[in-house]
Amino acid sequence: MTVPALQLNDGTEIPQLGVGVFKVDPGETERIVADALELGYRHIDTAAIYGNEEGVGRAIAASGIPREQLFITTKLWNDDQPAAAEAMDRSLEKLGLDHVDLYLIHWPVAQRETYLGAWLAMEELKAAGRTRSIGVSNFQVPHLELIMKESSTTPAVNQVELHPAFQQRELRAFQEPLGVRTEAWGPLGQGKYELFAQPAVADAAAALGVSPAQVVIRWHLERGIIVFPKSNSRERMAQNFDVFGFELDEAQLAALDALDQGKRVGSHPDEVS
Ligand code: NAD
Repeated sequence: MTVPALQLNDGTEIPQLGVGVFKVDPGETERIVADALELGYRHIDTAAIYGNEEGVGRAIAASGIPREQLFITTKLWNDDQPAAAEAMDRSLEKLGLDHVDLYLIHWPVAQRETYLGAWLAMEELKAAGRTRSIGVSNFQVPHLELIMKESSTTPAVNQVELHPAFQQRELRAFQEPLGVRTEAWGPLGQGKYELFAQPAVADAAAALGVSPAQVVIRWHLERGIIVFPKSNSRERMAQNFDVFGFELDEAQLAALDALDQGKRVGSHPDEVS
């Protein structure tokens, strides 16, 4: 099974499908990431604040998979924005790596007025080879505008809440023409939104003989979004990876497009401090 690779604006390639480890217990992370790697996943999305970078690192080391075949993302936590280089050192040490593939500012926390400084520090981390690409997460248009005006780097990605009930159309229309790829967090609505019961999802799943989760993941892929659903279960991770043997037709895609309610299930970036 080959996961398509998308090119980022700095020439790096990212597997469009990966696995996320938010809320994965540190004690279980090594097993879950090892399962994911065995199943064929090569893209892992973690963050310093998840507290499980060590488990990710142990699974990578034990896998024997050549480093260049892996795509590892981690994120700079809010409190560390004034000291990004030190935070990156700690993440790399925990991961047991000499570089990551993508380093993201986790939230803008704009009221602290430290994200531009963090971004300039991340440009240096990229130049020093400690991360191949740099990007942001939970940035809104004014935050993107500021860092692009004041630096010479366009973020490779912006990782934001995105699922059929919250499609981020305005943000995507702004960032994608500038070369900023969209990554979805909470791609399945974090189980908080009754996405799988929506007729658009359930009907497509029944017609294609796949699960509702597979339909939603396929929608992300066909809409050009980078996606890394999370599951602690090997069986569900296998299912979430098995999305390249079918396609949604135009009517099925349009029915999922019509589920957009502009409704978040997660935090609003302005409210995260
Ligand atoms: P998600 O939308 O991936 O949902 C996870 C939930 O869906 C879990 O409860 C899981 O049990 C369930 N699930 C997974 N596969 C399923 C299947 N096949 N059938 C039925 N249920 C299934 O939510 P998420 O974990 O929040 O988002 C994915 C990743 O995004 C995270 O792990 C993390 O890496 C990243 N993330 C980033 C931010 C950020 O601020 N940048 C915030 C949240 C998440």
